Amino acid sequence: MSYLLHLKCRDCGRTYPAEPLAACEECWAPLEPVYDYARIWSDVPRRDLESRAPNMWRYRELLPLAGEPCVGHHTGFTPLVRAPRLARALGAREVYLKNDAVNHPTLSFKDRVVAVALSKAREFGFDTVGCSSTGNLANSVAAQAAAGGFQTFIFVPADLEPEKIVATQVYGARLVKVSGNYDQVNRLCSEIAQKYSWGIVNVNLRSYYAEGSKTLAYEVAEQLGWRLPQNIVVPMAGGALINKVRKAFDELQKLGWVEPAPVKFFGAQATGCSPITSAAKRGTTEIEPQKPNTIARSLAIGNPADGFYAVQLMLSSGGAGEDVSDEEIIEGIQLLAETEGIFTETAGGVTVSVARKLIRQGKLNPEESIVLAITGNGLKTVGAVNGQFEDSAAIRPRLADFEEQFLDLAASQA
Ligand SMILES: *Cc1c(COP(=O)(O)O)cnc(C)c1O
Ligand SMILES: [Zn+2]
Repeated sequence: MSYLLHLKCRDCGRTYPAEPLAACEECWAPLEPVYDYARIWSDVPRRDLESRAPNMWRYRELLPLAGEPCVGHHTGFTPLVRAPRLARALGAREVYLKNDAVNHPTLSFKDRVVAVALSKAREFGFDTVGCSSTGNLANSVAAQAAAGGFQTFIFVPADLEPEKIVATQVYGARLVKVSGNYDQVNRLCSEIAQKYSWGIVNVNLRSYYAEGSKTLAYEVAEQLGWRLPQNIVVPMAGGALINKVRKAFDELQKLGWVEPAPVKFFGAQATGCSPITSAAKRGTTEIEPQKPNTIARSLAIGNPADGFYAVQLMLSSGGAGEDVSDEEIIEGIQLLAETEGIFTETAGGVTVSVARKLIRQGKLNPEESIVLAITGNGLKTVGAVNGQFEDSAAIRPRLADFEEQFLDLAASQA
């Protein structure tokens, strides 16, 4: 049974039936799925949820499907990890990592959005699906479309990381490399979605797709014992995820599943592509598009669709936006790996380093609870840290060689 009522324009409030629509026809603003919260509240006690399988569908009443999902049956319910050693390094008291680096099946938070989008594509009767992508979305659409038996076209900037290219092609998807940046790829994709009757997950399925992001936030609240964190740091590309985390926390309060409590939202970007955080730092919602130039390719969207709302959210919640350089991103990746044993991709390096910077600036309170959204896996961007480590020459298979090379070294360092 579905609790989805209709789609509603975020700006002018006009409502639309739940169909594959890209944006409001009047003002081009995003369309938000609206649910019958009163009926969810009376039909679904919170304790019912707790006995369900540990995946994102345990919150199915708050997702926009009419029936059962056709893919992503094991997606979501990733670990929320208490991170005492990272906390000590940051000088903070209570730090948690929402670890979507181990999300199923393609090791990024994008598996959540794609599971919803492709299930909705099946409900709408699309046989062919696709996306424009900065990498992780490509991997997830390719994998889940294969599992769901869809035809697939995937459009990416031609200079994407090789790991992410291979991890798209292996699933048999038709990969279209476009010589241009993500924003140009996305424009091409919108034209294609209009001309052909295909389900493009981040164009005409976008309103449904983005709802999948909410499950990350439901899980955080449930894993904290049905409590909201005081602060959350979220990496931003188009700015959809951070806004959906807020929507999810609002819904949980509306349903009485958590006590109302203020949450401060902090958005993280790379300095080489920081249209949203730059606006936030200027204290304006006026986004100036940028030409991305950063190793954080998964966040490299120069003209972010939800940027305006992301700035509004950060500023009105008492949070902030901040960005970090490529060197700081690498430091963040290493810091997380060395303190907590979690290898994240560049986007996670952005999140960790931005948190450190915000704490140093006094904008993020180290006495309060802090959740860091770790959204992707380090094995997908190995190149970013390649060559960072001191490599010793190979030794002969002899004990003496080992002792000479390593124990003398250890003794001299002690
Ligand atoms: C897509 C993505 C994000 C955030 O994307 P939004 O467009 O802001 O929703 C964050 N981290 C990773 C690793 C991603 O792939
Ligand atoms: Zn509108």
